[in-house]
Amino acid sequence: MALDLQTMQGLLETVSRFVRERLRPLEHQVADEDAIPADVRREIAELGLFGLSIPEEFGGLGLTMEEEVRVAFELGKTSPAFRSLVGTNNGIGSQGLILDGTEEQKWRYLPRLASGEMISSFALTEPEAGSDAASLKTAARRVDGGYVINGTKRFITNAPHAGLFTVFARTDPEQPGARGVSAFLVEAGTPGLTLGPIDRKMGQKGSHTCDVIFADCHVPAEAVLGEREGQGFGTAMKVLDRGRLHISAICVAMAERLIEDSLRYAMERKQFGQPIAEFQLVQAMLADSRTEAYAARCMALETARRKDRLEDVATEAACCKLFASEMVGRVADRAVQIHGGAGYMADYGIERFYRDARLFRIYEGTSQIQQLVIARNMIKELS
Ligand SMILES: Cc1cc2nc3c(=O)[nH]c(=O)nc-3n(C[C@H](O)[C@H](O)[C@H](O)COP(=O)(O)OP(=O)(O)OC[C@H]3O[C@@H](n4cnc5c(N)ncnc54)[C@H](O)[C@@H]3O)c2cc1C
Repeated sequence: MALDLQTMQGLLETVSRFVRERLRPLEHQVADEDAIPADVRREIAELGLFGLSIPEEFGGLGLTMEEEVRVAFELGKTSPAFRSLVGTNNGIGSQGLILDGTEEQKWRYLPRLASGEMISSFALTEPEAGSDAASLKTAARRVDGGYVINGTKRFITNAPHAGLFTVFARTDPEQPGARGVSAFLVEAGTPGLTLGPIDRKMGQKGSHTCDVIFADCHVPAEAVLGEREGQGFGTAMKVLDRGRLHISAICVAMAERLIEDSLRYAMERKQFGQPIAEFQLVQAMLADSRTEAYAARCMALETARRKDRLEDVATEAACCKLFASEMVGRVADRAVQIHGGAGYMADYGIERFYRDARLFRIYEGTSQIQQLVIARNMIKELS
């Protein structure tokens, strides 16, 4: 543990209270206005949530994987838009920098990412390169003193608010796959970098994505992450385990929130002269949801502990992401069912979670990609 038990307990209680008393009452407003209020963003920064996984020397909390998972179990018990705001700074937007950045790059960006002064985005996906990310076409051509980037990135979380983009581009056109790809640190406002309109999404309102377009965008040679060409895809893959575990914990939290709401509703709502919670068919839905959420919680914690012991958890992290994201979809579906007609109505917020949960099976690797990773590693282990 990076934190002593008492400090960790204090952090969990603070986040839990903040979620309960400050964020939950704002869920409808954030969904209706598709925006997180500026004062809430400030409070999130003051709590240190932008720097959960950034090392202490750069101003973050430097949490271990297990500690980060435990914080996510609390933070995820409300609309995922709040988590999404800090998600990129803690996960895919900073971890590459922590693992493979030069000292100069770390000191230039990590303190601002940890404090929330700067938001970072991770720009990998393209219109024609999603699951097959290694086929990306964005090109970074070497010129005097740096590179010129051309290409379009799609569905990039927090791009409309980002001060820093980690951009994956092909520096070696002769290498068609992952080996020709480098990661670049590109600041917002760099000439040649523009944003598309904000995407209209199915759910997770308050969290924004858009295209990031590079048209003859000049960057200096020092913008290459780690100042080494051809390492970009390797960096992206290295940060995946952490991201997958974080998302798994968020899925557990959302499931637990939905189970809590469903149980309360089932105990209050009466039909045929008794609370619907007394009906065994309703109990079966509650019990199945509780069992599955508990299984996902145990999986995420166990895998996080193993990661903290520096074990290779690539397979297990994919198992966690696959199971937890599919699980929360089933739990959200049962929550709608337990709420009956009310579950379909916007005022109760359950249908909103149902839509919000759908994303977890798609980003940071779809369920099918997790299945491929797991099976491929199984075959590799045996042979
Ligand atoms: C809200 C949102 C936020 C996002 N944020 C970011 C971000 O910040 N940065 C970023 O870089 N990207 C981001 N993405 C992109 C996301 O990671 C991709 O959408 C995802 O990886 C899937 O790629 P795709 O949409 O191109 O789907 P495709 O790859 O076209 O997949 C379509 C379907 O085919 C299946 N499929 C594909 N290949 C195989 C295969 N080999 N075997 C079996 N089935 C297969 C998929 O599982 C899926 O069901 C975001 C996406 C969304 C929706």
